Amino acid sequence: MSPAKKTTRKAAPKAVKKAATKKPAAKKTAAARKGKTESLAEYNRKRDFTRTAEPAGTRARRSNSAGALRFVIQKHAATQLHFDLRLEMDGVMKSWAVPKGPSSDPSVKRLAMQVEDHPVSYNTFEGTIPEGEYGGGTVMLWDTGTYTADSATDGDDETAALAGYERGDLKVTFHGKRMHGSYALVRTKGFRGSSSSKPSWLLIKHRDQYARPAEEYDIVAEHMTSVVSKRTMDEIRDAG
Ligand code: MN
Repeated sequence: MSPAKKTTRKAAPKAVKKAATKKPAAKKTAAARKGKTESLAEYNRKRDFTRTAEPAGTRARRSNSAGALRFVIQKHAATQLHFDLRLEMDGVMKSWAVPKGPSSDPSVKRLAMQVEDHPVSYNTFEGTIPEGEYGGGTVMLWDTGTYTADSATDGDDETAALAGYERGDLKVTFHGKRMHGSYALVRTKGFRGSSSSKPSWLLIKHRDQYARPAEEYDIVAEHMTSVVSKRTMDEIRDAG
C-alpha cells in the first residue's frame, strides 16, 4: 500500500464525520455567505471586464477594522450626467445614482436612485467606460472620505448604518474634502426613474453648520474637477 493511499483512506472518514457534526452551523453560514456573495453578482453580470477598466467585483473581507467607513461620490457622464453616491457597508459600497448631485440646502430634496452594490475597489476608479458598455462614459472622483452614522451608539457606525439602510431611513455625516455635515437618505415608496427595480430615495441635507441656502451656494457647480487628479471631465475623457 502506498503512503498516498493510506492518507486518503484515513482522511476520508474523518472529513465525513466532521461535516456531519457541524452540519447545522455550516448550513447557516453557507446561506449567509451566499447572500453576501450575491450582493456583487449584479455588478459583475452587467460588466465585461475584458472591455472596461472598472474593477471586478469581489467582496472586501472586512472594510476597515479600525472603524472608519468610506464613502465616494463619482461624477458620471453616462447617457445622462449624474453623481454616484456610495457608502461602505458590510464589505461593499451601497450605491445611489443622484441625477442632480447633492445639495447643501436643507429645503432641497434630491432624487437618489438605488443601483447595484459596487466593490470597495471602485472607490479609486476614475476614467472612461467605453461607449456601448454598461454605464459608458467618463467617471470622475468628485469626493472621497469617511462617514459616520448619526444613530450610532458606542461607535458602531456600521451596525447603525446597516440598520438605517434596512429601515430606509439612513442619517449619515460626511467627512469628505467637499461633503461635510449630516444628510438623510430616505427611501420612498416609488420606483421613479429606476430601471433596476430598486427603490428611489431622497437625499436631504440636515440643518447644521454646513447647511447653505441654494441661492448662495451650489456645491456641485463649485467643484468641477476631480478631488484626486484635479482633472476636468474633458481632461479625463481625453486621457482615454
Ligand atoms: Mn453611474
